[in-house]
Amino acid sequence: MFIVFLLFSESVYASHYQYTVEFDDSLVSAKIKLCLDGEQDNYLEIDRFIAYETLIQKPKTNKKMVGIEGRFWNIKEFAKNTCLNYEVSFKDNRLKTDPKRYAFKNGSANQEIDKKIIHVEENNWLWLPEKRGYSDIIEIEFHIPENYKISTPWHRLDFEKNRYRLGYEPQEWGYHLIIGEIDLSIITIGKNRILNIATINASSQASSTTQSINNWLENIAKSIKYYLGQFPLKQMQIIVYPQPGIKRSPVPWGEVSRGNGLGILFVIRSDHDIKDFYSDWTASHEFAHSILPKLRYPDIWLSEGLASYLQYVLMAQNKQLTTEQAWRRIYKGLQKGLKGTQLVSKEKLLDVSNNRKTGPRSGRTMRIYWSGAAYFLKADIKLRAESNGKVGLSDILLKLSNCCLKGKKVWIGDALASKLDELSDTNLFSILYKNMAYSSAFPKFNKEFEMLGFQVTDNSIELGEFKENQLSKTIMTASNKTRNQN
Ligand SMILES: [Zn+2]
Repeated sequence: MFIVFLLFSESVYASHYQYTVEFDDSLVSAKIKLCLDGEQDNYLEIDRFIAYETLIQKPKTNKKMVGIEGRFWNIKEFAKNTCLNYEVSFKDNRLKTDPKRYAFKNGSANQEIDKKIIHVEENNWLWLPEKRGYSDIIEIEFHIPENYKISTPWHRLDFEKNRYRLGYEPQEWGYHLIIGEIDLSIITIGKNRILNIATINASSQASSTTQSINNWLENIAKSIKYYLGQFPLKQMQIIVYPQPGIKRSPVPWGEVSRGNGLGILFVIRSDHDIKDFYSDWTASHEFAHSILPKLRYPDIWLSEGLASYLQYVLMAQNKQLTTEQAWRRIYKGLQKGLKGTQLVSKEKLLDVSNNRKTGPRSGRTMRIYWSGAAYFLKADIKLRAESNGKVGLSDILLKLSNCCLKGKKVWIGDALASKLDELSDTNLFSILYKNMAYSSAFPKFNKEFEMLGFQVTDNSIELGEFKENQLSKTIMTASNKTRNQN
C-alpha cells in the first residue's frame, strides 16, 4: 500500500484516503474503515444531511470519537496515518423499498424482486475530504459475499478484489452504486477500454435476454469506437433496468450521470423483440453524451445537439440506417427544431433552457436539441470542406476525448468552442457559437443539405432526391482505420 502511495504522490501535500467497506450477507448495513495517509484535510464532508440519520455507529478512532458538526467531521486534531471506523445503515436502499421509480408493480411481484440488491443514488455513506485536490487519491475496497456483484462509475483497479479509485468529478453530479444479486458483464471495447453492464432483476421469460441486450449495448459502444477511432472513456458503467410489457419504445428512458465517473442508466422493455432495440435511437443518443464534458445548464443545447446529431450517424455506422435514411432523419429533426422555435416567443438560444423550466416546454426542447445538432452538422461540413475531406468532426472529438472529458470542470459553451477551435486549428467553432447562442432564430440548414447531395426546394419540408457524394458518405462512414486497430 505504502509503495503505491509513493508512486502516485508527487507533491508533499498529496494525501491518500483508503476506505474499506464491509457488507454482510443481509446488505442492511456496512462497516467502514477509513485510513488517512499524508497531509489530510481538516474536515470530512458529505453533501446530504440524511447521512447523519443513517449513521449506526458514529466515527471514532481507537482512542476517541470524531467531532460531528452537521455535514462535517472534524479530523483536525488527528495524527497522520490514523484510521477511523463508522457504520452506516443501507436498509432504505434495498431495491424493493423503492417501487415508485422503476415500477416493479403490475403483477410482477415474483421472487426475482426479492433478490438482495441495494441501489444508492444519494450519498448517505461516503464522507469525503472537504477539499480534494487533483493529487489526492481516494480508493475504496469492498468486501462483499462472493455471490454479490458491484456496479459503480468509479475506476476499477482490481477485478478480483473490488477495489476502485474515485474520479474527480464531484459526487453531487449524481451517481449510481448498486450492490447485490445483479448480473454483471465486463466487456472490452478495444485496447484498455471497458464497459461494465449491470442488469437488475432481469426476467428469464423476456423475449430479449440479458445476453442479447448486452450484445446490443456492446454493438453501440463499438459504433462510437469506430466513429472516433477509440472508445472515449477507459471505463464506463451501464445499468439496465428491464421492465415488463411492450410500449412504443423498447428504451423508454435513458439517463447519464457524471459523479466520480460516467454512468448511463437505461430502463428497457425486454418483452420487445431484440430487433426493436437495434432500430431505436435512445441508446446511441445516451452513449454519444459521453463524448462531451459536462456543460453549464444554458449550454446544454451543445450536448443535446451533439447527441441528437450523432444518434443517427452512429446508427448509420452500425448499418441500422443507410446513409440516406440517416440524413433524412437529421433533416426531419432540424425541421422539428425550426417549428419548435416558431412556436415560442423570441428569445436567444442561451435563454431557452432556463425558460423551459417555467414556460412551455415542447417547442423549446426541440429547439435545444436540434439547434445543437445544426451546430455540429455545420461544423462537420466546414471542417471537411476546408481539409478536402480529410478532417471531420470525429477527428476533433477524438482529440477532445483525450484531453478534456475528465475532472471537475463545468464547461461554458464558448470555452468549449475555443477548445474545439484550438484542437482543429480553426476558428469556426467560436464563430458558429457566437452566431447561434445569441440569436433568437433557428439556424438555416437547406444549403448544407444541398451540399450533401439532396434536392432542396424552399418552403417544402420534404427533401427531394438524393445523390450520394463524397461529403455525405464520408461523414456517415467516418472511421479512422489506423486508430481503430486498437
Ligand atoms: Zn440527451
